[in-house]
Amino acid sequence: MSDPTGPSGTPIADSRAQILVVGAGIVGCSTAYHLAQLGTTDVLVVEQGPLFATGGSSSHAPGLVFQTNPSQTMSQLAGYTVQRFNQDTLDGRPCFHQVGGIEVATTPKRWADLQRKLGLATAWGIEASLLGPREVHARIPQIDPRKIHGGLFVASDGIAKPVRAAEAMAREAQARGVRFAGNTEVTGFDVRDGRITAVRTSRGTVTVDQVLCCAGIWGPKVGALAGVSIPVQPLAHQYAVTAPVPGLASGPDEVHQPILRHQDSSMYFRQIHDRYGVGSYQHRAIPVRARDLAPTAAVGDGAEAPSDGGGWKGMASVHPFTPEDFSKPWADARDLLPVLRRTEVAEGMNGLFLFTSDGMPVLGPSREVGNFWVAEAVWITHSAGVGRAMAEWMTDGVPGVDLRAADLRRFEDFAHSPSYVAERSAQSFVEVYDVLHPQQPPEHPRPLRTSPFHPREVERGGVFLEANGWERPHWYTSNQSLVDGRDLAEPGPWAGRYWSPIVGAEHQATRENVALYDMTSLARAEVSGRGALGLLQHLTTNQLDRPPGYVTYTLMLEPTGGVRADITVARLSENTFQVGCNGQRDIAWLRRHADDTTTVRDITGGTCCIGLWGPKARDVLAPLASEDVSHEAFRFFRAKRLFVGEVPVTALRLSYVGELGWELYTSAEFGLRLWDLLAAAGAEHGILPAGRGAFNGLRIEKGYRAWGTDMWSTHDPDEAGLGFAVNPDKGDFVGRDALLRRREQPVRRRLRCLRVDDGTVLMGSEAVFSAEDSGRSVGFTTSAAYGYSVGASLAYAWLPADLSDEDTPLQVSYFDRRHPATVVADPLFDPGMRRMRC
Ligand SMILES: Cc1cc2nc3c(=O)[nH]c(=O)nc-3n(C[C@H](O)[C@H](O)[C@H](O)COP(=O)(O)OP(=O)(O)OC[C@H]3O[C@@H](n4cnc5c(N)ncnc54)[C@H](O)[C@@H]3O)c2cc1C
Repeated sequence: MSDPTGPSGTPIADSRAQILVVGAGIVGCSTAYHLAQLGTTDVLVVEQGPLFATGGSSSHAPGLVFQTNPSQTMSQLAGYTVQRFNQDTLDGRPCFHQVGGIEVATTPKRWADLQRKLGLATAWGIEASLLGPREVHARIPQIDPRKIHGGLFVASDGIAKPVRAAEAMAREAQARGVRFAGNTEVTGFDVRDGRITAVRTSRGTVTVDQVLCCAGIWGPKVGALAGVSIPVQPLAHQYAVTAPVPGLASGPDEVHQPILRHQDSSMYFRQIHDRYGVGSYQHRAIPVRARDLAPTAAVGDGAEAPSDGGGWKGMASVHPFTPEDFSKPWADARDLLPVLRRTEVAEGMNGLFLFTSDGMPVLGPSREVGNFWVAEAVWITHSAGVGRAMAEWMTDGVPGVDLRAADLRRFEDFAHSPSYVAERSAQSFVEVYDVLHPQQPPEHPRPLRTSPFHPREVERGGVFLEANGWERPHWYTSNQSLVDGRDLAEPGPWAGRYWSPIVGAEHQATRENVALYDMTSLARAEVSGRGALGLLQHLTTNQLDRPPGYVTYTLMLEPTGGVRADITVARLSENTFQVGCNGQRDIAWLRRHADDTTTVRDITGGTCCIGLWGPKARDVLAPLASEDVSHEAFRFFRAKRLFVGEVPVTALRLSYVGELGWELYTSAEFGLRLWDLLAAAGAEHGILPAGRGAFNGLRIEKGYRAWGTDMWSTHDPDEAGLGFAVNPDKGDFVGRDALLRRREQPVRRRLRCLRVDDGTVLMGSEAVFSAEDSGRSVGFTTSAAYGYSVGASLAYAWLPADLSDEDTPLQVSYFDRRHPATVVADPLFDPGMRRMRC
């Protein structure tokens, strides 16, 4: 269809729109459609190219949709995309070919990984099965079955037609009043008091309430016009189309064969009538600077018109094919599909699309400009899901799926630096089809953030993994001798990839004596000023109006009543609070609600924290502390400012591991001195440094949930076992009414602790089945570890309410086996809290 707005299109000059969307690629069209569905129709979509084959990435993407993803959110977004596009047609032509998807394994390692992926798919509710080599061959006869161990088959996967789907959604949106302006470039923004008031375009100025940037590879350029940093990197990715393939039958549809992933060679294949489209991620990362991108030019749907009359040629999002990068992939392709030896590559391109430092999209409101929103680095696979979530977010204030891991505000300042974005995005590209372990640390750039204790941690043989740029010791080789004489259950090869028996020994030694934990990487903010208490009371569920010196565990809820975050708030003085939170997203949330009576200061970087935990913690602290730290003088969940030796410390009597102890905060320059004082004083009590491995097992057996891993914004506090942190009688707070409404309904699901009865140590994200009906997945695990004090393999799991009672027998799938599991009382360790309150 040609530009329905005509060459000049929708009048632009001196117009206004409630929401202006930049870009009519698949993401812009999808969001416009879903906004209209929600009743927001005063929307103007401005596109620099022609509508709807705009020349952006969506115009040439071959459209493969594999739904299975380690992230539940990404699988949910993909699942909805399939459902949406499968219903859509454009002028009688389908927007989705549900031909199924197969990932093959050519190595035993990959085959084991496909077994794990089958578990993931099942956990996320995607129907999938493993096929033997002959069964794969039956579906894709061109494959040499001798080359493969088998494949993972998902019948609902398939091929999206991005341009068609975009236009179909756009037409529906137009029918409801949404306006589209093609051949119109956004050239600038008028920003006043931190908000965009108007958008300047090549055809005039539009007054707006909100702006959504869906500009794809041009996103950073558009963001910069508004003063917003969008940390994404355009990279070239090779895609080629073969000449006709002998025997590849061509029916009325362009594709009837399942799409194929050959992950061991970082490749994928799709049928296009009697040809194959072949994509490769095998080559080096080829970055392109966003500011060097030309505006878009030509029209076409590359997947359908590979070599005749236009195709993708001339599009600014397409760079010339570099055949030298394709020779090895092409050889691999011919190895797997021998019939390709009888054909050639007819045409290829280096197509541009976005990568990010953590492989996730970049969504949501910006930090810098209040009404500038972003939906970038989104694949076709997730586009309808993202469009719907963005529309919900922009109109209702909360997306219907949990987008914590895709939120633009997850990135701290360092993660916006061009060198970090370039290096880590290139790594995401290289790893896109690798077998990635959830704990696998990035190799570069490291070390990036180190706590003041780092030199001592290195001296003690710390084995470091990385989180949010922080180097975090997982265990210390200097504790090796602790292992002797202990019988420590070992995880299998996958769960044990980043594990040592020292983890178990540090765990037990913490409960026996006392240990030092580096807790510096946990984010914290100082909230101060006249309005501080009011702000915190408004945003949290528990009563914070308590005297200075009290510490409160509380939740921040979404307006829907879901758990937005869990935080610990220490009232240090009348108007000063220290808030321990989960990251930048929480700090941004506090800032967004603060007025000029309150200051929210991120103090993470300038401070450090030692968790001094274990039954002998008081013996270590007492002789060093300037205050009485006896139980009577310094009670559980209290805070004091005191000196440890000469070090000024804010001490909170808390413990995430379920032992007597304190979180000891000081400013960074005193960190090393604090460590040394405690280490020296603790020597006679058997003190040792202990790592995150031990920490995780300790907190799980103590029943402490981790926000983001165990529960998130789609769960309410009661389901998550956190109802104790809600005090609805304290007065109004965000999410209170919604939560009370939810409380009128019976609880449908619960987060419960499972004991894996045969001792198998899990990783999390495994599918859970009922014991009686083992074909039906009923839930999934969240965090998992071995509880070295209770002598059991444990996991938290989301379960339907009717299968969540204690002693309910269940099964958990882990690789190729089912393991018996039982719902157990939680916490297993010290339910009477005697060890912490003494
Ligand atoms: C070779 C290749 C193969 C791929 N294969 C797949 C696949 O099989 N499956 C999959 O899921 N994904 C695939 N992708 C990724 C996918 O194509 C992209 O992630 C997706 O199309 C991005 O959609 P978008 O709407 O964000 O961007 P785009 O489609 O690029 O749309 C952005 C739009 O914004 C417009 N714009 C930019 N700046 C301005 C401005 N200043 N004013 C007005 N308009 C502006 C552009 O003209 C453009 O039309 C592939 C990508 C490539 C390159």
